[in-house]
Amino acid sequence: MTGKTAWAWMCACLLGSLGSIALANPYADVDWEKYEQHRANLHTHTTMSDGRLTPAEAIDRYRELGYTVLALTDHDTVGPKANRDDPKKAETTWPWQRFDRDPAKLDMLAIQGNEISKVHHIGSYFTGFGNAEVESPEQAIEEIGQRGGLAVMFHPGRYDYSPEWYVGLFKRFPHLVGVEVCNRADRYPTDLDLWDDILEMSMPGQPIWGFADDDTHRPEEVGRSWEILLLPKLTAENVREAMKTGRFYFSMVYQAGAPAPRIKAIHADEKAGTVTIEAEGHQQIYWISCGRIVSSGPTFDPKRARRPQGYVRAKLRGEHGDTYTQPFRLPIRVTPASVAPVGQSQVAE
Ligand SMILES: [Zn+2]
Ligand SMILES: [Zn+2]
Repeated sequence: MTGKTAWAWMCACLLGSLGSIALANPYADVDWEKYEQHRANLHTHTTMSDGRLTPAEAIDRYRELGYTVLALTDHDTVGPKANRDDPKKAETTWPWQRFDRDPAKLDMLAIQGNEISKVHHIGSYFTGFGNAEVESPEQAIEEIGQRGGLAVMFHPGRYDYSPEWYVGLFKRFPHLVGVEVCNRADRYPTDLDLWDDILEMSMPGQPIWGFADDDTHRPEEVGRSWEILLLPKLTAENVREAMKTGRFYFSMVYQAGAPAPRIKAIHADEKAGTVTIEAEGHQQIYWISCGRIVSSGPTFDPKRARRPQGYVRAKLRGEHGDTYTQPFRLPIRVTPASVAPVGQSQVAE
């Protein structure tokens, strides 16, 4: 943002909402009575790369557990799809009809996907991109965007990139929608902490969505982590929109197939900055900001919380595992004292 646009933005905020920016609730457009809750796994391997289940077996297993959205994201570097002689010809595990499964007949939505695996592992969605020849994470993300796809950074705990590096990527690539923060429950246990480090830097300006997936390689790994997508109707367009706007929550459990807390509704009062969660199957609700628990109970009230900064997100603790919301941007007060003088902001290009 240039100094001039920063100034215009701050003026608009001052005039538009009497000195404050309201709470931003990613679930604001969800009609909790009418929207459907669709269980999704967006990170799945099959015998087309290094998984043990055939594509048909993986699809059937997820369907049996009640999943309605599934992306088969085989690696582009190993298995029969990878083409070692000509990596540009690597393919995605697609379409399902090739494996004698028709998503429409199964009442499921299939998402074309791939795990870009030569560099930082990256989930690629809604595109046939499976080219193992990328030289950098930036190039991989750029290629996904050029094909109209969406991208998610997978299991960051495997690498040692800094939070600043991730924030830089999210600022540069709007189609990079989030980071996998639960991989097969807590296989990379520092990923939730990294997510808070990233949000601490990116918020209140830019929310970055958390994803939770099985990274399935073996049958016993099905049903450890999942997203619940909130959709007016099960269509590819709606799934894409939910992934882009954070209109989903996610869960992880310690035993495959066990249940997790279910969110029935989220009500937010944008001016007061309060958020209330209606749920079932939980023992407690914790509110987390910058990696710290700042409050507990069904309602978050910034006036009663312990120094929340920039954002807050909820963790619903259950008997078998936990459910998490996306981050809510907290209201910011913009006072004239915090606004830079005109001359100063104009030179700050
Ligand atoms: Zn991976
Ligand atoms: Zn994987």
